[in-house]
Amino acid sequence: MKTALLSHPDTQGHVGLDGYQENPNRVMSVMTALEDSRYDFLIRESAPHANREDLLRVHPPAFVDFILETTPPEGEFVHIDYDTALSPGTADAASRAAGAVCHALDGVIDGRFKNAFCATRPPGHHTEPERAMGFCFFSNIAIAAQRARQVHNIQKIAVVDFDVHHGNGTQAALWDTEDMYFGSIHQHPHYPNTGVSLEKQGKGFVRNIPMPGGTSAADWRKEYDAVILKDVDSFKPDLILVSAGFDAHKDDPLGEFNLLDEDYHRLGAQLQTLANVHCDGRLVAALEGGYNLDALARSTCAFIDGLQSA
Ligand SMILES: [Zn+2]
Repeated sequence: MKTALLSHPDTQGHVGLDGYQENPNRVMSVMTALEDSRYDFLIRESAPHANREDLLRVHPPAFVDFILETTPPEGEFVHIDYDTALSPGTADAASRAAGAVCHALDGVIDGRFKNAFCATRPPGHHTEPERAMGFCFFSNIAIAAQRARQVHNIQKIAVVDFDVHHGNGTQAALWDTEDMYFGSIHQHPHYPNTGVSLEKQGKGFVRNIPMPGGTSAADWRKEYDAVILKDVDSFKPDLILVSAGFDAHKDDPLGEFNLLDEDYHRLGAQLQTLANVHCDGRLVAALEGGYNLDALARSTCAFIDGLQSA
């Protein structure tokens, strides 16, 4: 199976204060793990800058301008909220993170590859159309979904978000879009404290599965399989987009779920199997969270192995 890996050195340019958990070492740890010769099969492509038109499919012009044109002097920051601040390299990194999912989308649709993983940062699933928050600047997966609809005329899209945090931004961007499915399984109560059971039912279908901290991997799997996997299978999408956050891992410092490395293999295999059945294999995944560097690297490799196994 042809799998693309998208990344770019600019994704390292977005930095925070000392101790900032969403830091450049995250993508570095993933890319270092994927240098192993067993990943020679990956089609490695450079993440381009996002087109302005793609950003505007989700965000208003003033918001896009603010993110792209705010460049503080070296060593300084422009704070948006407690854990979201623009550094001198943020605009380039955020632009390439959004550009990566669009480029990956185009590649799976024109058949250059079957599926793709975007090893980029900053993540995107907390950013709402007019509000950057929670380490996120552009709503990357929602942008790819709207590009798929508006440029490629692919309307039925399933977005699956297995990050430990609720994908409030993706939900806000897509819930009123017809033929969209958004499913998120996440810790609750926990940041950002949204995503309490079917809280948004617009033209699209939103499925939220809030579960308490301490949930076992077995209980997580049972709920995910019975609800989200089943939903996606019944929905019969033409494309699957994945908010691949790896902070539901038992070793993650920001979450209190207990997934193991092999759960991410299972997630990759299950989602790719559904993509093979319904979407001619088309699946694009983008890195969201994951803050234990070793667990993040292992989980990403396991997820990619899972995609390959399907
Ligand atoms: Zn997260």
